[in-house]
Amino acid sequence: MNEPLRTDRDVHVHQPSNRSLGGTGSDPGSAETDAYALEAPFLASLLIESFRQWAADYDALPVFGEGAALLFDLSRTLLSGHGSTSPSSEEQISLCVQEALRTGGPAEAPVESGMLLRAVPVPHRSEGKPIAALVFLLPLGPDPEGRRAMLYACALDFRSRFHILFEKRLVEQAMERQRAQDKEAARKDALFIAAKRLHDQIDVPSVLKETILNLESLYPDSEVDLLLSQDYASVDVRVKPLVFKNAAADISARAFLEGKPVKEKGEGAIRLAVPLSGKQAVYGVLLMTVPAGQWEENDLPDFVMLADTAGSAFENAKLYEQSNVLIGELQLINELTKRLNQSLRLKEIFQFATNELLQVFHADFCCVLQLNKETNQFVVMSSNIPALMGEQFSKEYGFCGMVYRSKESLIISDYHGTGQVASKLMDLTASRSLIASPIMVGDDVGGVILVAHRNANYFSYDNYKLLQVLSTHIGLAITNASLHAEVRRMVITDNLTGLHARHYLNEQIQLRQRKDPCGSLILVDIDYFKKVNDTYGHQIGDRILVQVSDVIKSCIRDSDIAARWGGEELAVYLPKVRTEQAYRIADRIRSRVEGETDPKVTASCGVSEWTFEDEKISPESLFYRADMALYEAKHHGRNQVFVG
Ligand code: GH3
Ligand code: MG
Ligand code: MG
Repeated sequence: MNEPLRTDRDVHVHQPSNRSLGGTGSDPGSAETDAYALEAPFLASLLIESFRQWAADYDALPVFGEGAALLFDLSRTLLSGHGSTSPSSEEQISLCVQEALRTGGPAEAPVESGMLLRAVPVPHRSEGKPIAALVFLLPLGPDPEGRRAMLYACALDFRSRFHILFEKRLVEQAMERQRAQDKEAARKDALFIAAKRLHDQIDVPSVLKETILNLESLYPDSEVDLLLSQDYASVDVRVKPLVFKNAAADISARAFLEGKPVKEKGEGAIRLAVPLSGKQAVYGVLLMTVPAGQWEENDLPDFVMLADTAGSAFENAKLYEQSNVLIGELQLINELTKRLNQSLRLKEIFQFATNELLQVFHADFCCVLQLNKETNQFVVMSSNIPALMGEQFSKEYGFCGMVYRSKESLIISDYHGTGQVASKLMDLTASRSLIASPIMVGDDVGGVILVAHRNANYFSYDNYKLLQVLSTHIGLAITNASLHAEVRRMVITDNLTGLHARHYLNEQIQLRQRKDPCGSLILVDIDYFKKVNDTYGHQIGDRILVQVSDVIKSCIRDSDIAARWGGEELAVYLPKVRTEQAYRIADRIRSRVEGETDPKVTASCGVSEWTFEDEKISPESLFYRADMALYEAKHHGRNQVFVG
C-alpha cells in the first residue's frame, strides 16, 4: 500500500538518505576512470541540487502528485526523493536501480498492480557511463507507453539540468581558482617588489619608511607600528622604542625576546608581533593590529618573510652606516696624522691639534697641556680660551690630574653632577660635558687633551673612543717633533765646545744675508796650538779649546752665533754689526784669551763685514776676507786682530 503523499514534496522518503538500498551487486562506480574519481566529491551535491530544481518544476504535473521520483547514486544510495514510497517496494526499487546501472538503459521491475516502477540511468556527460539512476514510481495510467515516453523525456530533462549545473559549477570553480591564483600572484608580486625595494635602501631611515609603506599597502586595513630596540631618532610617529616593561604580558617584548611571532586575540582584532631579525641580531618588532575578520592564518608566512626582509635590510643599512662612520673616522685620522706629521714644530702641532679637535667634535672649548718635566707642572700649550694660554697646573689638579694618575681617557656627561673634581677650564667656560685623554709619550703621560662643551650629555661614547685614537696620533706627532728637535740640536752643536757646528753658522749667515742690511764675522785661531798639543798633550789642548770657546761665549750677545769652524779655528757671526764694533769684540776676545787661559795661549783674529751695498754677498766671500785678515794677523806676529 502506498503511504499518503506528504505535503512537503521535497522531503526524502523514509529511508535514511545515505543508506544503501539493499542488493549485493558489485559497485559499478568502483572501476570508473580518474575523471570520475576527481568529480566524485562534487557529484552527489550536484545531483541533489539538480534533482531539487527538476522536481520543483515537475511538481505541477498531476502525474507526479500521485507517485514518487527518486535519485540514487552508483552505490544505490538514495540521494534525494520526491513523493513517497512504501517500504514494501524498497527491494524492487533497488533491483530496478541495479539493473539500470548495469545495462546503462532503462529498467523496470514489477510492483503493485497499476503502478509503474522504472529506473532510468543518468549518464556521465562525456563518457556515457551511468553515474546515477533516476527512479519513477507512478500509476501506470491509461497509456503506459505514452507514460514511458514522458518519463524518458523527464529523465532527459533531468540529465540536461544536471549537466548544465555541472558545467556551471565547473566554470565557477575554475574562475574562483583563477581569482585566488591571481590574488596570490599579485600578493607575491607585491611582496617581491616590497623585498626588492627594502634591499635597495642603504640608509636606516629609508629602510624604516619603506617597511611601513610596504605594510600599509599590503595590509591596508591594519594598524602598523615598528618598535625598535635601539634608540633611533625617527621622524615617523609609527617608529617607536621597544619598552620592556612587563615583558611576559607584552607580545612585542615576547616576540623580541623569543625571536618568533606572537599572536594575541583582542576585542574584534588580532594583534601580531613579529621580530625584525637580521643575521646578527633582532633589531625590533613589527606590531600589527588586524581587524578580526580580515586575518587569515595563511598570511602569516608572508608577513614573517616581510619582517625578515625588513630585518636584514635594516641590518645592512646599519652596517653600511657604521662602516661609513668608520671610514669617515679613518679618513679623519689619516688626514690628521698626515697634517700633524707635516710639521715638526711643537708649537704648530699643539695649535693644529686644538683647532682640529674643536672641529671634529663640534666642541666649544679645547685645551692641550704638556707636562714640563723640570717644573713637574702641566702647561697649557694651546687653547681657544685666551685666559688659559700658558697657565700652569700642578700634576694633581683637576681632570688633568685624574688622567695623569689613571693614564686613561675619561668622559664627564655633566660636570654639575660630579662636583668632586675642580676644573678651571669647566668653571671658567661654564661647560658641562668633557672628554679628556692622555697624550702618551712612551709609557708616560706627556700631556693631556681636554675637550669641553657647554651642554650636558654632549659627547657620545664614540666621541670618547675617537678622542682616544686621535690623542695617540697627537702623542706620536709630539714625540716625533721632540725627537726631531733633539736631533737637530745635536746636529747643530759641536760636542766638545758646545758651540754651533760649522754648517749651522753657514746656514744662519745665508739667512741673515737675505734679510739684514749688514753683518760681521770674526775668525779666531789659537796661536802655535800645535806646540801646545806637543807640550801638554791633546787632552790639555782640548781643555784650552773649551776655555777659548767659553771666553767667546761670554763676549757675545744671544743674537750672535758662535761656531767651531774646524780644528782649533772658531768663528763668530755678529748680525747687523759693522766692522768697528766687531773689531772691539774680537779684541776683547783676544785679550781675555790671553788673560784667562791656563796654560796660557794667545789667539789671532781676522774680521770681515758685508753690507747690502756689496756687489757680491755670500758666506764664502765673508769667510775668505776674514781668513785673509787672520793670515795678516799671524803674519804680523800673532795675538792681534786684523780687519779684512
Ligand atoms: P799658528 O796657527 O799659530 O800658525 O800655529 P798652529 O800650530 O796653531 O798651526 P795650525 O793652526 O795650522 O795648527 C792646528 C793644530 O791644532 C793642529 C792640531 O794639532 C791642533 N788641533 C786641531 N784641532 C784640535 C783639537 O780638536 N784638539 C786639539 N787638542 N788640538 C787640535
Ligand atoms: Mg793655530
Ligand atoms: Mg789653525
